[in-house]
Order: sequence, then structure tokens, then C-alpha cells
Amino acid sequence: MGSVPLPDNETERLQLLHELDLLDSGSDELLDRITRLVKELFAADIALISLVDEHRQWFKSKVGFAEQETPRNISFCTHVVASGETLLVDDATQDPRFVDNPVVTAENGIRSYVGAPLTLYDEYHLGTLCVISSKTNHFPAGTKRVLELLADWVSTTITDHYELNNYLAERDVLAQGPVCAVVWRIEPKVQLSYVADNAIRVLGYEPAYLLRDDVSHESIVHPDDREELLARMQRLIDGEQAYLEMDYRVLLPEPKAQGSRWVHHFARADHDKQGNVIRIRGYLLDDSKGKNLELELLESNKNFELALAAGEFFTWSWFIPDDQLMVSHAWSLLLGYDAQKEDEIDWQSLLHPDDKNALRTQLKAHLHGDTERFDVRFRLRHVDGHYVWIHSVGRLVERAHDGKPVRMSGIHHDISAQVENEASLAQQTAVLELVSHVQHEFMLAKNFSDVTDYALPKLMQMTASAFGLVGELPPQSHRRDMLQIHGLEVLGEDNANSEYHKLIQQGLEVVVSGDVVRNVLLRGEPEFCHLPVSRLEMSFTPVTIPELRNALALPLYFKHDVVGLLVLGNSTEGYLRWHLNLLRPMLDTLGTLMHMRRLDEERQYALEELRRMASVDELTGVANRRVFWHAMEERYEEFMRYQVAMSVAVIDLDHFKSVNDTYGHAAGDEVLREFAKRCKAQLRDLDLIGRLGGEEFAVLLPYSDVTEASKAIERLREHVAATPVTHDDKQIAISLSAGVTQLRSTDAKLDDWMARADEALYQAKESGRNQIVVVPEPN
Ligand code: GH3
Ligand code: MG
Ligand code: MG
Repeated sequence: MGSVPLPDNETERLQLLHELDLLDSGSDELLDRITRLVKELFAADIALISLVDEHRQWFKSKVGFAEQETPRNISFCTHVVASGETLLVDDATQDPRFVDNPVVTAENGIRSYVGAPLTLYDEYHLGTLCVISSKTNHFPAGTKRVLELLADWVSTTITDHYELNNYLAERDVLAQGPVCAVVWRIEPKVQLSYVADNAIRVLGYEPAYLLRDDVSHESIVHPDDREELLARMQRLIDGEQAYLEMDYRVLLPEPKAQGSRWVHHFARADHDKQGNVIRIRGYLLDDSKGKNLELELLESNKNFELALAAGEFFTWSWFIPDDQLMVSHAWSLLLGYDAQKEDEIDWQSLLHPDDKNALRTQLKAHLHGDTERFDVRFRLRHVDGHYVWIHSVGRLVERAHDGKPVRMSGIHHDISAQVENEASLAQQTAVLELVSHVQHEFMLAKNFSDVTDYALPKLMQMTASAFGLVGELPPQSHRRDMLQIHGLEVLGEDNANSEYHKLIQQGLEVVVSGDVVRNVLLRGEPEFCHLPVSRLEMSFTPVTIPELRNALALPLYFKHDVVGLLVLGNSTEGYLRWHLNLLRPMLDTLGTLMHMRRLDEERQYALEELRRMASVDELTGVANRRVFWHAMEERYEEFMRYQVAMSVAVIDLDHFKSVNDTYGHAAGDEVLREFAKRCKAQLRDLDLIGRLGGEEFAVLLPYSDVTEASKAIERLREHVAATPVTHDDKQIAISLSAGVTQLRSTDAKLDDWMARADEALYQAKESGRNQIVVVPEPN
């Protein structure tokens, strides 16, 4: 007895055998009929349907044999299973494979055997249909052929059983699941012809209801989805589409008809031989969970986007092959664009020229795989013209099969405020330094134009401006359209600047016109001009200023009053709110200094006025007695030191009492004023005229000896006597008497000199008045 031969696919064969679930099962009427048939047909002792497993052969059907199974190693059939060929044995005692087999050597043992394989799926030989006889040469050669045909029948029957069972099991599983199979017939009208039992669970409707003639499938579909479903079904029927796949809502049956559930619908058409559609098979999947999840996700994405936008974060997606940039809507608003017209925006052209290179380098590095993520800051131009700072972080999220980048996604964050903060911290320090510098300078030199010469270029630098102007409203004027210009500068225009400077030195006053500047001066509010500024909006006649692409016009305040104006223009960065905050300390300083300058001027004027008032005789405007004596003292000192000639004349009007008596006191006053005037006109600027009291005057003539002095006083006397004073149409004739003398080195004190002059005057009066007496110098 040799070892048991095995087929090549023994493992799979055994697996299939077990799956068939035939081993150790009950009898089968059809199979029993077949075994009975072959036993009769071939007058065999035994007919069997044998199934061979690992260790035995088990008989699904048997005739003429008592055992239910026998060991595999004594089985004839196992040889058929191994070879897949029908086996015919005429005399087992002559066959070395079976000669010592116990079923052969036994009394009435097997002599003749024919076994045809039971083959499933063309490759698995599970067992045999076989006939056995105890006589040698019992089966004729034709037996093989007939047995094979019958074996095929058995195999097919086993296969059909198997598949039917599988199908039923599958249907069972489907019926438990969320998929409902349906079939529509087309003729005479589109109508459900089959609905799986689980329709009640999947769709919420009894199959019987859905199959009713008067119920159409679309009647349970949500009205909003009905039209599309019908259109798609029609396309399927018309052969325009091979299959249909659609999500739609199925209404919940009465009484809770308000609700609906989402189904995923898949269907395809069955055709007859002519290609006509005969029916449509479909599956409906209850997809409420998935669809709701999808809707929730959509909603939550929208919320997420809103939340991002609230924090000034904006999402973007860049489709690289066709260079299409998708951005969240709010982000176009950030740049002042209408979200509706977002597609028309050419983002690249809005990029600040200075940021282009950095962006490109970063992008290249990331697409090349050098960086984990794309992370860059850049500026984009707002519709208004100013720039918005953007922090962009992104990542390549999709590559094509060939490795080419397809899509990048990321977020944008508006960091204008942050960048401004960083920049403004440094600039604020600079502004405060500037403030302290100009305040200090002004305190020392009291020169406001020095302040503007120093501060204006610095303010222009801080705001990247190419134009600057500082003007002051003229004090003691209610006009709000006149400015005294203190500073005017255009970057790089040295010739124009020196012209401006000259004009300013001479006291440049301009007439302001245009809404922008007038607004600032009248309302005291800052004006931001992001677009080119026309002459209609701002002009300073007669000065011509350059064309301004943008401008910032700011009022200069002292307390609550606008005292002046600062204009900056042509900034390469544009003007932003924070510039105002940045410059505020400087604006306040300029305003305050303007005010202080005015105060200073006013005080200076008042001081001079006061001084004048203290030194001048009120009625006549000549020096008063105190000042005259002070001057006399100084000249006395000078003479004592340098021996330069000094003379004095004491003058008294003649018969003045009668002027008062005749014409009145006012006429007398007028005569005194007129006399003083004539003195000033007749004498040198150097000569000091003083009123000693009443109608008595004195003249100090420095660097004049008595001869020169007497000539001057004589000329005065002649003039006064020759020209009457006109008052109230009356001619008042006057004359004077005077004594003239020169200072001598023998004069021990000032009084000695003056006493000589008085003495001479007395002599003049005594000698008949209207004459001068000169004290001659001793030889
Ligand atoms: P004589 O020729 O001797 O100098 O005679 P006189 O009248 O000029 O001399 P007298 O000293 O007697 O008179 C001076 C007068 O001058 C007296 C006073 O009323 C008058 N007088 C003095 N001060 C003023 C003044 O400020 N205005 C007017 N209108 N008169 C004055
Ligand atoms: Mg007199
Ligand atoms: Mg007198």
C-alpha cells in the first residue's frame, strides 16, 4: 500500500470542500437517485458519491455499501482526486496500487472499479461518482464516458446549491444593512417593480406601499431634489448616461412628514439584445449620517473660516499648474476690494516691489523641498494706495505623480498693526529725541526757523516723505487762509530748496486754498490723502509745490487753538493712522514753540515799550529829565577819559505864559510838541534833546565844541522865530532864549557845566530874549 497521492491544489481544494458544508450532512434525494441509477445501469455491486477530505472519504450518497466513511489511505477515489482523471480498474489484484489494499484482500473484495471525478470550477476535484464490483473486468470501456457525464451533473448540482446558499446568505446580509435594492420597469411607465424588504428601514416605507401602482418613486423624494432625479433617470433611460449616482432627500412618511433623510442613489440600466433599456436596477443607501456629517463639516469649515477672519486670518489655496489663487472672501475686503469681483484682482501686481524677491526665494525653496513650510512677510497695496502687511504661512499639499507641485494651501494674517508697532517703537524714540532736541535749541536760541530747518527733514525721513511744509497762522489775525511759512523742503531738489529758504528768510506769507488744507486749518482735523492731490485740494499762492501722489496734512495745536500746519507728501509707504500718533509729540511741540515764539515777540515788544515809556517825555517824545541827566553823566565820564569835546545848550521858550493865556493850555501843549519836533529836525541824530521841565529844554551835543554847538542852536533859534506854530487856524509866533557852553576839564562835577549854561540863558533873557548867549572858552 503506497502513500496517498495528493493534488497540487490540495489546500484550496480542502477549503472549498469544507465551505460547501456537505461533509457529515444529511442525504439528498436527487443525489441518491443518481447513485441508484448508475448502480442499475452498470449492474454494479456498489455505487457511491464520495467526498475526500484530509483523512477519509465520506459518502454523500451510497448504494450497496454499509459504511458511511472509510480511511483515505485505502480509498480508490483518492487517486482520482489526485489526478483529476477518470480511473478504471479491471482487476485490483493485478494493480500494484491496490494489491495489498484490505478492501481488495478481504473476502468478496473489490476487483473492478470506475470513478469519475467531481470537479468544481474546473480545478477542484472534491471526490468521485464511482461504481464497484467484486468481479474482475466487470465494467466495459464505455462506462467511463457515461459516468463522467453523470459526475458533471452531480458537480453542477453541488455548485448550484453552493451558489444559491451564498446568494441567499448575501441577500440576508444586505437586508440587514443600509442598502436597499430596487428595480424599475420602464414599460408601460417607469414604475418600481422590485423593492427589497429592508426598504422600511432604509427609506422608511413598506415595500408594498412603494410598489403600489398609484405611488411613484419621486413622490417620496424631497420637492427640491425631485426635478434633478427625474432628469437624471431620463438620461439613463435615453442611454445618454451609463449610470446614475446622486444624493437626495427622501421625505419621512406621514405623520412626521416634515423631516427627510439623505440617501445615496446608485443605478444602472439593463438592456435587451437590441440595446433597448428594459429595466433599471438601483441601490439606495441611507446616507443621513454621512450627509449630515458632510453638511456639518461644511458648516464648521465656514465657521472656522469666519473665526479665522475675525482674527484677521485668511485662508488661501494656490493651484500651481494654472496659477489660480483662491482666497477667503474677507481677505479681499482687507485690501478694500469688492468680494464679488475677487476673480479680477491681479494679486501679483499688488505686491510691494521691495518684497517680490524675498517672496520668490521663499516659494522656490519650499517647492524645491528645502523648507518645512512657506513662511514670509510681505506688503500688498490697498485700493487706497497704502500697504497692508501680510504674514503668510503655507505648505505644499499636493503633488502630481511625476512629483510636480500641484497645490499649496495656507493662511494669511494681517500683521499691519504688529509691524507698525515694531516700527513705531523705534520711531517713537526718534520722535521723542527730536522733540527734546528742538525744545532745547529753541530755549537757547529762541530761533524758530532753526527749529524747522532741523525738524522738517527728520519728520520727512520718518515718514519716508519727499515733501514737507511747516506754516503758521499769522498772530493777531482772524484769517484762516494765510500762512507764514517756516519750512518748505523737497527731497533732492537743492536749487528749489535754497530758493524757498531765501523767501522764508525774507518772511514768506502765502494764501492757502483748497479743501484739504483749509479743512485742517478750519476744523483742526488731520487729512489723509491716499490718492494724488490736485491743486484744487491744496495750494500755497504764490509758492509752487511739486505734484503730490499722497499727502498727510496735520494741524499744529496750542491748547485748543490751531496755530499752524504741517504737510508731508509723496511718501513711498503711504500715510497711515499710526503716523498721526507717532508724530503727535512733535506736532504739539511745534504748536507750543510757535506759541512761545509769539509770546516772546510780544514780550519783547512790551519790554521796549515799557523802556521807552520810562525814558521819554510823554507830551513831546524827547528824553525826560532823568534820561537826559543820565546821558550827561555818561558823556562827562567819556570826556574825562578821552578829552573829546562835549557841549550843552539850555533853552527856554519866551513869554510862554502868555501863549497859554492867549490861546489856551491845549495850544500851549501843541506849541511844546511842535517845538520838540523842530529840535529833532534841526539837530543831528547824535544830539540828545531833553525836556527839563515846563517850557525848558536842553540839548546835549557830543563831539561838538562850543563854536559848532552855538551854530546849531543859533540855526534852531532862527528857524523857530521865523516859523509860527499853527493851531486851530491860528498862527502862534514863538521864540527861544538859550545858553550854550562846552564841558571843561576844570569842571569838577556835572553841575558846574550845567550851571554855566543856566547862567548864559539868564543873560539871554536879560538881554531881551530871542537870542543865544555862548560862553567863550578861556584861552
Ligand atoms: P519868560 O519869557 O520869562 O520865560 O516868560 P514865561 O512866561 O515863558 O515864563 P514863566 O516861567 O513865568 O512861565 C512859564 C509858564 O509855562 C508857566 C506855565 O503855565 C507854563 N507851562 C509850564 N509847563 C507847561 C505845559 O506843560 N503846558 C503848557 N501849556 N504850559 C506850561
Ligand atoms: Mg519862558
Ligand atoms: Mg521858564
